[in-house]
Amino acid sequence: MNPDTTQLLARRQQALGASYRLFYEEPFAPVRGEGVWLYDQHGTPYLDAYNNVASIGHCHPAVVQAIAEQSAQLNTHTRYLHPSIVDYAEDLLSEFPAPLNNLTMTCTGSEANDLALRIAQCVTGGTGVLVTRWAYHGVSSVLAQLSPSLATSLPTAPHVRLVDAPDAYRGNTFVHSVKSALADLQAHGIRPAALLVDGIFSSDGVFSPVNGELAQAAQLMREAGGLYIADEVQPGFGRTGAQRWGFQCDTVIPDLVTLGKPMGNGHPVAGVVGRSELFDVFGRQQRYFNTYGGNPVSCKAAQAVLNVLREENLQANAQTIGEYLRHGLRTLAARYPAIGDVRGQGLFIGVELIDSPATRAPATQITTAVVNGMRRRQVLISATGPRGNVLKIRPPLVFNREHADLLLERLDATLTDLH
Ligand code: PMP
Repeated sequence: MNPDTTQLLARRQQALGASYRLFYEEPFAPVRGEGVWLYDQHGTPYLDAYNNVASIGHCHPAVVQAIAEQSAQLNTHTRYLHPSIVDYAEDLLSEFPAPLNNLTMTCTGSEANDLALRIAQCVTGGTGVLVTRWAYHGVSSVLAQLSPSLATSLPTAPHVRLVDAPDAYRGNTFVHSVKSALADLQAHGIRPAALLVDGIFSSDGVFSPVNGELAQAAQLMREAGGLYIADEVQPGFGRTGAQRWGFQCDTVIPDLVTLGKPMGNGHPVAGVVGRSELFDVFGRQQRYFNTYGGNPVSCKAAQAVLNVLREENLQANAQTIGEYLRHGLRTLAARYPAIGDVRGQGLFIGVELIDSPATRAPATQITTAVVNGMRRRQVLISATGPRGNVLKIRPPLVFNREHADLLLERLDATLTDLH
């Protein structure tokens, strides 16, 4: 590590304390971003195959300009009438199937999930929530109880039940486990409020529900009196390629949809989309005001993202390049038995590493070594899943074939080194 980085690291630890974590054995300190590239202070380019927030590319000029222009004009809140939030809401809602026809804006995905749960609890009168076994849904105290991936030592709250992710590689028991969890809530006299799932199951290890199982799970929850909340913070805004929203990989339409991360390409903007009847019931009983949520600058940033997503056809790109990358990864898998499974949708890819095909034992240490080896080769990826043995490849949607080839070449070299 160079002396500047060492010094910054020490100051950071001193000032920020223990709960902050950094990626990589050798921390990475970018100073500039453009498209799929991040640059360090020496101008060395790193291929970003990890950051889904800068979904339309780092520092996209359309977003920078939108933020700058609106900041210079006016920035207030939603207690004044301003067209920016209305224009954006109408445009965003045109991207959703009926009956999803209302939007409330927040600043973060956590706030969106928190609000969705408040609505669900208000409308259903229940409190019980089902989330996956290694879910992550946000930072508030309510959401920390619904985010077992935060720490193995967190006790499960009495109203929460954990269900299996749809893991087709190790045995898929998703629907069955939703059924059991609902029965267990009932046995304990707890009324269900919601099934809250990330449609790409990113923290669980990147999985895709198949054969209508999301619809079956939602149906079970609805029959029990609860709602289906789709957390689109990860799969939303075209990332999964074949569809705009992750939930559209199935036929079932959620009651509420939560949005975040890519919505503002780095500007903190998020929201809840849902059926107006639900917002009506909630809104008649209590008001919602979020000081920064839906401010004109945020709305202009979000509008610019939506425009670029359409103009640059980035969802189709996610589909094509995602397919190309998965094909390349499967070609590598034929040469490296450590690659047990290549999965995902669009430009959200999981590569599960194992000790041997016979045991499929999770290769956690090798995965860490691959992530760090790739960082040394100037390609940024990460790892996910309860055992940390799934490479998470989730680049900005402007990733192209040359970028994919570079990633595959560096992964090949990294895996060769490790063998
Ligand atoms: N839901 C999911 C699935 C997420 O991945 C995250 C963030 N990693 C959140 C919610 C919370 O979003 P935020 O960090 O914006 O609060």
